[in-house]
Amino acid sequence: MNASSGRVALVTGAGRGIGRAVALELGARGYRVALNYQNSEAAAAEAAEIIRSAGGSAFTAQADVSRPDMVKRLVDAVTNEFGPIEVLVCNAGITRDNLLIRMKDSEWDDVIRTNLSSVYYCAQAVTRGMIKARFGRIAAISSVSGLVGNAGQANYAAAKSGILGLIKSIARETAGRGITANAIAPGYVETDMTSKLPDEVKTAALARIPAGRYGTPEDVAKAVAFIVSDEASYITGQSLAVDGGMTM
Ligand code: NAP
Repeated sequence: MNASSGRVALVTGAGRGIGRAVALELGARGYRVALNYQNSEAAAAEAAEIIRSAGGSAFTAQADVSRPDMVKRLVDAVTNEFGPIEVLVCNAGITRDNLLIRMKDSEWDDVIRTNLSSVYYCAQAVTRGMIKARFGRIAAISSVSGLVGNAGQANYAAAKSGILGLIKSIARETAGRGITANAIAPGYVETDMTSKLPDEVKTAALARIPAGRYGTPEDVAKAVAFIVSDEASYITGQSLAVDGGMTM
């Protein structure tokens, strides 16, 4: 048992990839975990079962977090099941890569809505309760693309950079109420999101990673678990790169 045991955590996009690893890590650390998914119902159910079969508490909830009405219903569902949300991990994200000169407005809008507006909707929906409880942890998954930009990802880099400003502002508004808000900026992590990249892009990425390997979802999950823990109470408004040294 650790100090954070029993706290209620919501992880968005928890059926696959980094979100799934975060949910499993928090579940193993004794959090009661709500696993949000949009399409991956079976995968989310399987992850919840892993947590429960190890003696933990977990349940799944469908929602498109780019829609504020669905986020409200999601937060209500979690609160009804487990009580007020104490830990929010905004992980859901998509890519719609294209060069700026070819980018469609729909590619811009979809990425901003899913990767940035969703963090605003989720954080807004949980913060009032956290202020009342005088405790809260908000973590959002940004990206090294948000720190240094990336050719072909103007939409994604803008969203991920936007998360940094949003998180810092939330941190300033809530720091006096026992709430922290931080961003985690993964580098290249092996998930479905990166598996579709061309081989030459993967090879070029590896050459830029001093650690000499791609990241794993678990590498990111461990950092998230620390930043949302009770122990990290004096860390707020930060962005932590988990990138094998890529952007140092
Ligand atoms: P992934 O394997 O493609 O998984 C994406 C996740 O986001 C899925 O669980 C998906 O849910 C969920 N999602 C997408 N749109 C959603 C929506 N509208 N509502 C709810 N859930 C939604 O990606 P990943 O690599 O694990 O990425 C997770 C996060 O890390 C993203 O924010 C991504 O930008 C960020 N990141 C990834 C990398 C990397 O190298 N992989 C690097 C930096 C940052 P369903 O499957 O249920 O639809």
